[in-house]
Amino acid sequence: MSARARLAWFAALLLAVTTAAASPVTVVRAAHLIDGRGGTPLAPAMVLVEDDRIVAVGARLEVPAGARVIDLGEATLLPGLIDLHTHLCSRPDVQWERELLESDPAEAALWGAHNARVTLEAGFTTCREMGPTWPYVDVALRNAIDAGAVPGPRLIVPGNYVSPTGGAGDARQFSIYVDVPIVRNLADGPFEIVKAIRTNFKHGADFVKILVTGAVLSVGIPPGAQQYTDEEIAAAVGEARRWGRQVAAHAHGAEGIKAAIRAGVRTVDHGSFLDDEAVALLARTRETFYVPTLYTSDVIVEDGPANGVPASEIAREREIRAFQDAGFQRALAAGIPIGFGTDSGVIPHGANARELRSRQRLGEAPMAGLVAATRLNAEILGWDDRIGTVEAGKLADLVAVDGDPLADVGAMERVVFVMKGGAVVRNDR
Ligand SMILES: [Zn+2]
Repeated sequence: MSARARLAWFAALLLAVTTAAASPVTVVRAAHLIDGRGGTPLAPAMVLVEDDRIVAVGARLEVPAGARVIDLGEATLLPGLIDLHTHLCSRPDVQWERELLESDPAEAALWGAHNARVTLEAGFTTCREMGPTWPYVDVALRNAIDAGAVPGPRLIVPGNYVSPTGGAGDARQFSIYVDVPIVRNLADGPFEIVKAIRTNFKHGADFVKILVTGAVLSVGIPPGAQQYTDEEIAAAVGEARRWGRQVAAHAHGAEGIKAAIRAGVRTVDHGSFLDDEAVALLARTRETFYVPTLYTSDVIVEDGPANGVPASEIAREREIRAFQDAGFQRALAAGIPIGFGTDSGVIPHGANARELRSRQRLGEAPMAGLVAATRLNAEILGWDDRIGTVEAGKLADLVAVDGDPLADVGAMERVVFVMKGGAVVRNDR
C-alpha cells in the first residue's frame, strides 16, 4: 500500500469510527411496554433507537451488529412523561410573593436548573412551564437545556404571566407608595394584553399564560372570581393565534373557566369549580382541554404552614378542595379528555407522578392517567408528531419503572431509567 493509499484508508477508517460514534444504535429491552396509545401492553418489548429517534418497536427485533443493548429486565417501559403545568424556577418552601423581595433572578435560574434535572430524572422529558416569578428566567432555562448546558426536560415557556391588576399574578400586594422590583406582568384591557403578549414573544416565550380568575396561592382576588373579561380573554387568544401560538388559562371559578373555553384557549388549568355546563362545553370541542392539578391540595394543606404559606391561602385551599375533586369526577364521568399537569413548585419537584395517584384515588383508571401524561398531553401541545408515544419516527423519550403501573399507578414514582432524545439520562439497572 502506497503512503497515499494508506492515508486514504486511514481517513476512511477514521470517518467510519466517528460516524459510528455520532450515530449509535441502541436497543432498549424490557419485560413490558405501555406505548402511550392506551392499548394492551407489549410483552416482552424491544425498542430500536438511532440517534435521537425511535426506528422500530416490537416483541422481538433483530439486534444490529455493534448496537448497544440496554436490558431493563422486569421493568415496564413507557414514553417519556409530559407535565403541562410546572414552575421549575420556584420552590415549595419559598412563598412567591416574598420571593420578589428576598431573592433575585440568578437564584431562581440556579434552582431552576436543579429542579429541571430532578424533574427529568423523575421521568418527565417534556414540560410546559407555567411561569417564573422573575420574568424570562424560564426562557434562559429552556435555552440552556436545549443547548445541552444543563440537563432538563424539553421546555415550552410563557416568559411572563399576563395578569390583571389585583389579580392572581399581581404580586405587588403592598401600599401603592411601596415600589417592588419591576415585574411588568400586569395588563388591563385588550390593548395592554396584546402589548404584553407581543413583549413576551419578542423575548422568547413559546405560548401565553393568562390568569383569568383569582388564585389559591395569592392574597389578591379570591380563586372563584373571574377577573379578565370575555373581551380581554378573546384579545389574548386572538393575538396568540396571529403568532400561531397557544394560550393557557389559569382558571379556578366556573364563570372564568367557561369564558376561557368560549374564547378558545388551549387549556384551562386547575379548573377547580368545573361545572356541568363547562364539561358540556369541553365535550363539544377538541380545541380546549381541562388540566386539573389535584395533588396540590394535599401539599398546600399539609406542608403549607411549614413552607410559610399564609393561613388565608391555606384556608382557601381547604375550601375549594372538595370542589376540585368533584369537578374532576364530573369530567371523568363525562368521558372528556383530561390533560395532565401538577403545579410542581407548589408540590415538590420530582414528585410530579404523585398526581397520577390523586387521579386514581378519584376513580381514574391507571391507563387513562398514563395516556393523559403521554399521548394526550402531546396532542394538547401540538407535538404529537414528535413525542407522547413509543412508535417509530418519534423522538426517543423513554422511561422505565419498577413494577406494573396498571395495577398500581404509584409504580410511576419508582423510575429506574430515563432516555431523552436518545441520550440516557438515568439507568439504575
Ligand atoms: Zn401554577
